[in-house]
Amino acid sequence: MAVYNGYKGANTCTKGPADGAKGAMAWFLAKYKELGGRNSGIYNCRNVRGSSRTTSLHGEGRAVDFGLKWYDKISVFEEFAEQLRLNSAELGIQCIIFNRKIFSGGYASKGWHRYGGVNPHTDHLHVELSWGAANRDLEDTIALWERELGGAGNVKPVGNKTKPKPSVAKQPTDYKDLKITGKLDKPTIEALQIVLRAIDLYNREVDGGLKYYTIVGLQKWMRAVGEYPSKKFKIDGKAQRETWKAVQRFLRRKGFYPASKWIIDGKPESATISGLQRYLNTQNGK
Ligand SMILES: [Zn+2]
Repeated sequence: MAVYNGYKGANTCTKGPADGAKGAMAWFLAKYKELGGRNSGIYNCRNVRGSSRTTSLHGEGRAVDFGLKWYDKISVFEEFAEQLRLNSAELGIQCIIFNRKIFSGGYASKGWHRYGGVNPHTDHLHVELSWGAANRDLEDTIALWERELGGAGNVKPVGNKTKPKPSVAKQPTDYKDLKITGKLDKPTIEALQIVLRAIDLYNREVDGGLKYYTIVGLQKWMRAVGEYPSKKFKIDGKAQRETWKAVQRFLRRKGFYPASKWIIDGKPESATISGLQRYLNTQNGK
């Protein structure tokens, strides 16, 4: 039981959640789901809120948001946060933000102190892992957290059934160059699903169907790149106009939907889909 010393900020977005972060989340859900714990996210390529330069640790896939559903259980999570701090050296936790308080390994001796960020963090614990902890594999992380924290409080031991479910078995991870058809055909949607899987925004089958989860993934992707802000747009799995407008703005930025030729109208017509196909062709492994 010891407190972590040190802090390493994020440089640039990686491709997805680190295994150590996934393991921490799996352990947390196994322990706290019944008490209202939930997964509020790991990977998200974005800047620190309120800043335009600093990459969030979520962009490196080593920050974990342990969500809590019921505010009246906040004391349970306060205790959990304190256990994390007290064991932060063993677990490789460099920072925790919860309920207007922050612990940072950058000034570990200060313990908890006031957090004045935009988001008060009353509905989730933001927990940042060191690179060492982030790179630990999933099963080892679960075992480590169980060893360090399993006896703490009144949480139950992690059993077999609580192992994280593997995502859909054996799915394609790459695709060939798409034909520029200007149509949302099956190969195009499959390619989109493969790209979304690679950034952990789609964990279902690559089936070429533009259905709910694919659109949810597309909306989350557009949100992550700043074109579908949460203040204005909902993640609702409906391919409405605003979703396609976001895609058009994104493609414009990437040079596949020039302002000299096309307007942002939210209509997924030939120019938009051709642009998307061209963009997707830059994302395959060729
Ligand atoms: Zn967070």
